[in-house]
Amino acid sequence: MIEMNHRLRRLYNEPNREDIIYFLETSQKDELNALYSFADQIRKQYVGDAVHLRAIIEFSNYCRCGCLYCGINRANTRVQRYRISREEIVSIAADAYKSGYRTVVLQSGEDPTYSIDDYIYIIRKIKKLGDIAITLACGEKEEEEYFYFYSAGADRYLLKHETSDPILYDRLNPGMSLENRIKCLKTLKRIGYQTGSGIMIGLPGQTIESIADDILFFLEMDIDMIGCGPFIPHPDTPLKDSPVGSEELTYRVLAINRIVTRNTLLPATTALSTINEHEGRKLALMRGANVVMPNVTPLKYRQLYEIYPNKKRIEVSSTDMIRDLETQFHQIGRYISHSPGDRYQEDPYIANGHC
Ligand code: SAH
Repeated sequence: MIEMNHRLRRLYNEPNREDIIYFLETSQKDELNALYSFADQIRKQYVGDAVHLRAIIEFSNYCRCGCLYCGINRANTRVQRYRISREEIVSIAADAYKSGYRTVVLQSGEDPTYSIDDYIYIIRKIKKLGDIAITLACGEKEEEEYFYFYSAGADRYLLKHETSDPILYDRLNPGMSLENRIKCLKTLKRIGYQTGSGIMIGLPGQTIESIADDILFFLEMDIDMIGCGPFIPHPDTPLKDSPVGSEELTYRVLAINRIVTRNTLLPATTALSTINEHEGRKLALMRGANVVMPNVTPLKYRQLYEIYPNKKRIEVSSTDMIRDLETQFHQIGRYISHSPGDRYQEDPYIANGHC
């Protein structure tokens, strides 16, 4: 026990590869429980009990990339492709705002059909709705485009690096490079975006050591939002016969991310709720997570945005969804945040008059 507490404290004070690997691998139940409860305490200390909601709008499933794991990759001819018009995107965002969401995430495949002007139109219209943050998750773009979107009002950008193992990255993402992905992340940060990254857990060929490097990468890059979900094989992709990523390993990564990065935004990912529909979200929130990303894409489109199978196919009104989440959060002593939920908010310590 003393040895374990020492390790946990060292992980927190001097994050290092050896301790990260240790906690990713340990088979001791008491050590795992200590890891999870330490992560939960760090979460409470650094980001409090609020859960930030992000309304996801999946606006196009056209994609120019050929990622082997992704169900909407360009080679999948079985996908019926769709694109939501810029007016409809704004109207979906307006509905989300009315229901109480204070962040929308505009996600898509890499679809060059939307022009810079389209993005600017959409971003400006959504920002006019009120106190609402916009997160974009539309893949790799030119620096100039990232800059125009930011100038128009986009606040955040999500671009997962997927794996920090360059050989695995090359194998899974033909025609792409980890180097460019990281270059994009650096550009986004330099421009001023709150920047999100993340990985899939359980990719075929991924090692525990490379996951430790992913965690150190988040820390070194000072990534603001870190989304880590299990890999789920899609039947129409080359990885269809690979096993699903481990749920438990996903929680370990989440907990370690919380302990080493402290005040970041860590979602209970949708992929996690997909492999454990009843408990996934709750357990993630109890092991370091402070963000939930409900999907508000109209069902007729959502069922076509199939990155991985078994995404929920039920249309629930936004208001009912929020009410339901509120009940779930209350059961574990948490509440819904009513602010856009930036990484750096007023420091609760200072706000309480301690300094
Ligand atoms: N084109 C955008 C959005 C990609 S989809 C971009 O490149 O950022 C969002 C995320 O879904 C990806 O970053 C990836 O981490 C995840 N994803 C893709 N296929 C998956 C699969 N089969 N299982 C689990 N997650 C997957």
